[in-house]
Amino acid sequence: MSGCGCRHGAAADGTRAPAIADPRCPPAPPPAGPAAASPALAPAMAWFADMVQHCYDAATAAKAAGRPIVGILCEYTPRELVMAAGGLPVCLCGGDVRKIAPAEEVLPSNLCPLIKSTFGYHLTGANPFLEMADLVVAETTCDGKKKMYELMAESRPMHVLELPQKPGDPAAFERWLDELRRLRDELGRRFGVGITDDRLRGAIRGMNRERALRRALAGRMRRTPPPFTGRELLDLKSLISCLPADVAQYEAALAAVDAAPGRADLAGRVRVLLTGVPVVHMAERVVDLIESHGGVIVCMENCTGLKPIVEDVDENASDPLRALAEKYLHLPCSVMTPNEGRMDLLRRFAADYRPDAVIELVWQACLTYDVESHRVKRLAESDLGLPYLRIETDYSPSDSARIALRVEALFETVRARQAARESTKS
Ligand code: SF4
Ligand code: SF4
Repeated sequence: MSGCGCRHGAAADGTRAPAIADPRCPPAPPPAGPAAASPALAPAMAWFADMVQHCYDAATAAKAAGRPIVGILCEYTPRELVMAAGGLPVCLCGGDVRKIAPAEEVLPSNLCPLIKSTFGYHLTGANPFLEMADLVVAETTCDGKKKMYELMAESRPMHVLELPQKPGDPAAFERWLDELRRLRDELGRRFGVGITDDRLRGAIRGMNRERALRRALAGRMRRTPPPFTGRELLDLKSLISCLPADVAQYEAALAAVDAAPGRADLAGRVRVLLTGVPVVHMAERVVDLIESHGGVIVCMENCTGLKPIVEDVDENASDPLRALAEKYLHLPCSVMTPNEGRMDLLRRFAADYRPDAVIELVWQACLTYDVESHRVKRLAESDLGLPYLRIETDYSPSDSARIALRVEALFETVRARQAARESTKS
């Protein structure tokens, strides 16, 4: 589900989006201690701590200027098309556990928490961006989302992108290209704007620039020791892409990180490659558990990590819509079959980021990631020679102690292997 860095919780009825206090995750004293903040990132962290407010201000100003707000819920939805229509694409995915109970009045409880939380926001009207949205662009990814969208569409304007699920099939590409054409035409018709190739190229350039900066920041985690934590990196993103002030912060953060000495305190930590479902705002509990128990997440393969930003769109393509279709259909989500691209990406990230272990996060009732976890485990253990841990959980903190124990056991295995390797050398 969506990896757009969702950070909801802004007031539905005011101009000030309040800071989000998450009652689910009281800080517990972890054995290894949480990693301290990275001084080089302090200005950017301070900026992005107010990200919801910045997005709220930008959306309010855009709305006042007559620009449409378009809600998106998945990384398959090309933000470039919305931007080329003069709109502001805003991620609507829910990470708040408190929105799950209202959702369960309608949806089955045995459903992914991300879907339930998103739908809970819809029912309670608590997401100002959803309330502002002139259109929601949904997509046919997993079954739970598809059916939830039907209910949401009863009272919200919605366009559903039909996503082909056999990415290697040439017919699938032509079908997907046709879907993007339909979305372009729908946006143009609805908002009274001609989406020309030049407008599209401008949006592609903007998104490429932002992707490149975020990719470069994530790439600094290849270093030993890494210059910041996975949680810090996760917090450097926005609900709305390409806000100029955010882009300036990414640039400044990159320069500051490159000028700063490495984080010696992160040197002894277990380097983790985190894969699986997206870690949306207010659902970062497992990231914090990993990094509070001796780990540092050097690579996030998921949709809130590198997966959606690892590839750009060809800015010079003669047909920019076709170039968009190519980039987006390459996204290796578990809803695809087969999903070889994800295995390739994991191999590549393991070589680049040199993790000591692979941890897979699966939201409860996410069948596609859950079934695919078998392949990821085999890849990690047999092909990459890395210890692997699968964590299946939801947004409730009730299993935090159990998860922490399993993470500690994994890290013990890593340390035992490292010690055995050292003793063989000496
Ligand atoms: S994990 Fe799949 S369904 Fe979820 S945002 Fe990513 S691409 Fe979309
Ligand atoms: S079930 Fe899986 S693919 Fe669907 S929304 Fe949840 S995490 Fe995403």
